[in-house]
Amino acid sequence: MATMIIEGERTRAASGKTYEVRNPATGEVVDEVPQGGPADVDKAAQAAAKAFGTWSKLPANQRREILHKAAHHMLEKVEEIAPILTKEQGKTLLESRLEAKRFGENIAWFADLADKIHGQHVKLPDLTTYGLVVRRPIGVCGAIVPWNFPLTLAANKVAPAIAAGNTVVLKPASTTPLATLACIEALMEGGLPEGVVNVVIGQATGEAIVEHPLIRKIALTGSTPTGRKVMAKAAEGLKKVTLELGGSDPCIVLDDADLEGAARAISVGRFFNCGQQCLSTKRLYVQDGAYDALMEKLVARAGKVEPGNGLDKYRRKGPTPTETQRAEVEAQIKDAIDRGAKVVYGGGRPKGAEYEKGWFIEPTILENVPDGARMWTEEVFGPALPVRKVKDLDEALRLANDTPFGLGSSIWTANMAAARRAVDELEAGYTWVNAIVIAHDELPFGGTKQSGFGKEHGVEAYLGYTEEKSVVYGGV
Ligand code: NAD
Repeated sequence: MATMIIEGERTRAASGKTYEVRNPATGEVVDEVPQGGPADVDKAAQAAAKAFGTWSKLPANQRREILHKAAHHMLEKVEEIAPILTKEQGKTLLESRLEAKRFGENIAWFADLADKIHGQHVKLPDLTTYGLVVRRPIGVCGAIVPWNFPLTLAANKVAPAIAAGNTVVLKPASTTPLATLACIEALMEGGLPEGVVNVVIGQATGEAIVEHPLIRKIALTGSTPTGRKVMAKAAEGLKKVTLELGGSDPCIVLDDADLEGAARAISVGRFFNCGQQCLSTKRLYVQDGAYDALMEKLVARAGKVEPGNGLDKYRRKGPTPTETQRAEVEAQIKDAIDRGAKVVYGGGRPKGAEYEKGWFIEPTILENVPDGARMWTEEVFGPALPVRKVKDLDEALRLANDTPFGLGSSIWTANMAAARRAVDELEAGYTWVNAIVIAHDELPFGGTKQSGFGKEHGVEAYLGYTEEKSVVYGGV
């Protein structure tokens, strides 16, 4: 049985309760895990507060060295960790390997910032004084993570937090705690001190983290409704919040675009990780001159995204993680079809004995999806893409921005003036121009509108785990 990790110890839930983690491709039990609650969060927060006393006081170059060694050790275990992620989440081994690797790389990237961020020296009017602005870690931080990228999204929070000297209480999603535990174990084997990162498991631990008085910042990646609840609850304790929430990213393809490049990017953007990506191509607007040729290429690519058990190296797409999640995506597809949309590819469940016990769904492309259909107005968190023909960039930009979300966006065009207009006018935290939708460590990532606020990745994420303090030195 897997256990939580609190103050370096492998811990069962205070209540003694457990639940099963199941493989979404086969329905088989992968492991039994503790069902933690407020008492476990309290223990983890106390452990993190104790560890903060020493971790935050270490010289920054020592923190950098410790984190590099820990990340290096974790990266040597990628081949062990990847199948655990595939079994609990369903994604393909290739996707799991990439993700496990990104976890270690992210820890190493932020480790390098630990001793590179400076404060300021400020001249004051009274020449017998001078001012400083110093940066300090915040304290104990809560990290709440969803199931779609359990490792990457945990690292996005844990890495900048601990590099800056904070300690963490980390909560993976209930369905995907196992690979996260393996990553934190590996960091600890590699020298991360006990109590710096504590992992609690169980649905009820999320709210308990947000409410706990010792936890001073909450970083959540999750849906927009969860973000609202977390922000309201965090306001009671006046906690800092970073909210990475839902998205419905538009992609615009103009007549003059490199259609081969666009088709590849859209296919990866919509079907990678079974379409369960926050940043992903969720609405496609294609100028009429490019429409038929692009659709032909997209359909050909969808045909290659063969669903199956992620452990089978020849399959390109795993199942959705739960029955509820598949039902949600199917309902959104049905809504579009009921309103008159045409299925261009997929639209149902793959057939055959191997698919009967898992939550599989076909890669799906729909056209003529009417205005008001759920696929346009809601986030589609699965491998289904609505496509619309547009006459020009004006129409494309108007439709692209007609959404409550503002996470990512992209445009494919050879016209630099059109690209520049898109960069200026698309209401989103990220715009890719003629580039595949990949979030880079070096660039700050975060949404606008109902997709949340605060940044992960980049120096900005590191700064978000520090507080500025002004200091006046007198008598000098
Ligand atoms: P979710 O909101 O249901 O859950 C996310 C996490 O929050 C889970 O660990 C869950 O247990 C916890 N949680 C739920 N209610 C809570 C509460 N009241 N208080 C504290 N914690 C609570 O999301 P999900 O279904 O796991 O993930 C899918 C969603 O995440 C999608 O909307 C997707 O777009 C979004 N997402 C966003 C990003 C981003 O960076 N913007 C990245 C990945 C996923």
